[in-house]
Amino acid sequence: MPKRQIVRIDEEKCTGCGLCVSPCAEGAIQIVDGKAKVVREELCDGAGFCIGVCPVGALTIEEREAPAFSEEAVHEHMKNRGKTYITQTCFRCGGSEDRVYLMPCRYQGESLWVCTRCLPALIHG
Ligand code: SF4
Repeated sequence: MPKRQIVRIDEEKCTGCGLCVSPCAEGAIQIVDGKAKVVREELCDGAGFCIGVCPVGALTIEEREAPAFSEEAVHEHMKNRGKTYITQTCFRCGGSEDRVYLMPCRYQGESLWVCTRCLPALIHG
């Protein structure tokens, strides 16, 4: 099995609030028995968009042996859940990717989505 970056969930810290579920565009994280779980490791691409939203610091990215990320598995997983993707929103205006283009950005340890309308304000202050 290859070594790669993948999310690690500290179950001692996790409160099961569910905030990390929607930032995961691949649907890799679900709440199971009151705790966040990576339901299938091949669904996690290790991008870390879940990390910044966790209020208790239960999420980190680590490098370890894990099945390779599989886009095919993601498509199958989302189809089985009756979706083709989980809608993400701009952290500034709340604009949905169904209506606006979103780009990933990092700020002070958080992974965020920003829409192209709000991006100039971030660039120019
Ligand atoms: S955001 Fe953090 S505390 Fe909430 S469910 Fe996810 S890992 Fe658990």
